[in-house]
Parts: sequence; C-alpha cells; structure tokens
Amino acid sequence: MTAKPKGFPALDTKEKDDLVDELTQYGLANGLIMYPEGFRNFEADLAPLTIFPTPFPQSEFEKAKALSIPFSKLYGEIVFERKWLIKIAEELSTSDTGFTGKLYESYKKAKKEGIIQNVSLALTRSDYMFDTVSNQIKQVEYNTVSVSFAGLSQKVGEAHKYLNDSGLYETSGKKYYKDSELAISESPDGLAKGLGEATKYYNAHFTDANNTIVLFVIQPKERNAFDQRLIEYSLLKNFGVRSKRVELTKFTSRVAVDKKTRRLYLDGDEVSVVYYRSGYSPSEYEQDAAWDARVLAETTTAIKCPSLLVQLSGAKKIQQLLTIPQNLDKFYSRSSIWRKKLESTFCKIYPLDGSNQGQTAKKLAFEHPENYVLKPQREGGGNNVYKEDIPGFLKSIPESQWAGYILMELIHPPLEKNILLRDGQLFNDGIVSELGIYNASLLDESTGKIISNSYGGHLLRSKISSSNEGGVAAGYGCVDSLYLY
Ligand code: ADP
Ligand code: MG
Repeated sequence: MTAKPKGFPALDTKEKDDLVDELTQYGLANGLIMYPEGFRNFEADLAPLTIFPTPFPQSEFEKAKALSIPFSKLYGEIVFERKWLIKIAEELSTSDTGFTGKLYESYKKAKKEGIIQNVSLALTRSDYMFDTVSNQIKQVEYNTVSVSFAGLSQKVGEAHKYLNDSGLYETSGKKYYKDSELAISESPDGLAKGLGEATKYYNAHFTDANNTIVLFVIQPKERNAFDQRLIEYSLLKNFGVRSKRVELTKFTSRVAVDKKTRRLYLDGDEVSVVYYRSGYSPSEYEQDAAWDARVLAETTTAIKCPSLLVQLSGAKKIQQLLTIPQNLDKFYSRSSIWRKKLESTFCKIYPLDGSNQGQTAKKLAFEHPENYVLKPQREGGGNNVYKEDIPGFLKSIPESQWAGYILMELIHPPLEKNILLRDGQLFNDGIVSELGIYNASLLDESTGKIISNSYGGHLLRSKISSSNEGGVAAGYGCVDSLYLY
C-alpha cells in the first residue's frame, strides 16, 4: 500500500457544532433514522453514525466487490452439495446448544411434508475488516439470512456527500474530498433488484397471477424498520412489486395456503417471495409458532429468502471448514485465480473438536486467548467471547459442547480518528470499521443452477475501538461511509 489517506477535516468547535446540526437535519429529512428503545411508532431518531467518511484503501474495496460473485457462487455450491451440508448440520445438532439443530429439524420436517419449491433467493453480505498485519482485507463472516443496513448505508453515504458538497468539511467552504473519493452504496436497489428478479421468475414459472407480492417476515417492535422500508420503496418504485409485512410468530395465523397448489396467500394476495428480516436468533423462537412458520413456508411454492438450507450454509462452522483446502476443493479447483483470492481473505479458524486441528485449538485457546475470538453458531451480534474471557467461558460449559464453537484469529483493523454521533452525543475515542458487500443470487437447489447472481452494493459500519462488537442496533456501533484512498 503506497498511498496514504489525508487526515480528517480540522474544524473548530463552532464549525463542528454546525456540522452536527446540518448532519442531523439532513438525516432526519432523508430517512437516515431508527426507532429508539421502547419507541412509539411516530417517534424516530437519527441513526447512530459517523460525522466524516472513514478512510479505506480503494484497491481493497475493489477486491471485496470483485469477490462478491465468486463468494456467492461458493455458497450456492455449498447448498447444492446438500449431503455435505446436511452432514455438518447433523453433527452440529449434537454439539451446538440447539439452534442449528432446530433449523435442521425444521428442514427435515418440511422435507417430510414436501418441499416443492426448489428455487431460493440468497441476499447475502460478506463482511471484512482491513487487516494491518497482512495489509489486506480479511473476512469476518458470511451472512446468509436477514442482512441489514442496505437501506441506511446509501443514506449515510449521501449525507456525507451532502456535507462535503456544501463545503461544511472545510473552513474555506470548498470540498474537502474529491467526488471520486466518496462511494455511495447502491444497496437498497441491489437488494430490491434481487427480490424483484425473484418475483419475476416466480410469475413466469409458477403462477398465472402477475400481481404477486413479496412478504417481509419481521420481528415485533423492529427498531431498524426504516432500513427495511427503503428496500420496500425501491422494490415498488424500480421493479413495480408490492410488498406486505407480517411478524414471524403471526405468520401461520395470518397466511393461507392452497391445499392443492401449495400457493401462499396473504389477505388474498399471492406471495412470490417470503423474505425473512427475522428468524436468525433463538430468542425469536420462544413460541412454537415461529418454527411452525418456517416449516409451513418451506412447503409452499413461494420462493424463500433464504431457504432453510441457505440459512444453514451461513453457519460459522461452514466458514471454518472452508479454510481447510480439501474442503474447498469440492467447490473451486486449486488453479482457479478466484480460489486464491477467496483464500487470501480467510483468517485462521479452528474447530474445537476431537480432530488434530481441534487439539491444537484447545491448547491455543488456553495458552494464547489474547489472539482469538470464540464464536458459537449464532447471528445478530452479542454472542462471541473475546480474548482473555475465552478460557473461563470454555471451562464453564461441558467439553461436549465445545465442538459447536469455532476459534478465530483476531483481525487487526487500523484505528481511525472519526467522531461518532449517537443520541445527540459525540464520541471521540477512535474507531475501527467493517466493510460489508451485498449480493443477490437466485438458486435452483434441485438442478444446482445459479439463475442469477449480482453484486448488491456495500456497507461500512464502525464502532468505538474499545468495544469488541460492532452491532449498530445492539448499541455497539454506527453506520459510516467510505473515503477511498
Ligand atoms: P455476528 O454473527 O454476531 O454478527 P460476527 O462474526 O460478525 O458475528 O462477529 C461480531 C463482531 O465481532 C464483528 O462485527 C467484529 O466487530 C467482531 N469480530 C468478529 N470476528 C472478528 C475477528 N476475527 N477479528 C476481529 N474482530 C472480530
Ligand atoms: Mg456480523
């Protein structure tokens, strides 16, 4: 890396206050918002965000984008390699504390009742951090269910561009960043395009109806509702597809399924795509109605985003297994240039099982925990165990459960100087950032054909560097945008 980023704009206190006022009103005016804790539905706040874009090496951003299609192809192939995927899910059922097992059980139940729709939609996000040790991006995880912030990502990029265009980043009133240095994400349209194309495919192949809807299956009291709405609005505006919303636990009581055709309806509208913005966390399944919903949806003709198999392919265990070259051989030949590029983003990840690698990992976890993060098969933030907490945590659970976790080497992102704005308060502590790359791909799980596959835009999230996790809604982080150098 030869280029160096320029420093952050140097503003005095008054200029900074003005900037925060401008940013706040721009954000509120343009839907860069989120519901606060315990909200009433007419009250929304500015989403947590940075006041400047954050430096990121352009070449590594381009690399991450270029990897979008190879990565989604890889995960598509994993779903097509059903026996392999199922074997892993089965093994996890015995060690994991229940959630993966329940997902797999639901798949088996649906299979027994009859899965008649083999086409599924994967709206995914591959997350990376720039690693200062190896000077390249490293993959944090690959998300295959309910990927969020595609809507707000575009808004925060536009907000930073507005501040730059207005001259608010410079005492002189000029632009501080060149236009080409700022990247605005097309992610709301990227995900809407995936949903729109899936609807089109459904209308062409599985029904006579031409006014089918996308059904957003959501969590109750969703704080990040506006992020989802931005996708809905793009879906209608750019692709002419209507959408409706239903809570996961209310799904079975709200929908109707035609016994003969297995078509799915909500209030008389035929559903082409069931789009889960929920269903990734065990806490959502306290009522059996949530599992019933997953099984029922799986046995209808509606295209699921994601199907149970696509969701299972996003298990952190799969990410660990892919770092073993013999496993990756199933999907990419060793001579493929994409394979080398994919592998260059992998961190060392270990299983904690009885294998040789597992034995090594158990030693590392106790002797050098400061270099690792321990992850269960979970999504949505707040589940990982970091560094010195690892040994105590492992000792607190039966060793038979350790195989449900992976041990991952820590990435060392650069510390940046940006200022975080949350609840009207500024935080000046220094931040680290995580880049997300969205992808939309339509899969035929029975023929192993990828019907379509497209890059879906990007996301930058940042967190105060002293915090281990970066969840925005969970209160650890904020949305950000890229200053490419
Ligand atoms: P989740 O499925 O809960 O989002 P992640 O694997 O994304 O789990 O981990 C949550 C957060 O923990 C990430 O957003 C990142 O901030 C931090 N993290 C995860 N893995 C690493 C790693 N290998 N090195 C440094 N930080 C990490
Ligand atoms: Mg994550």
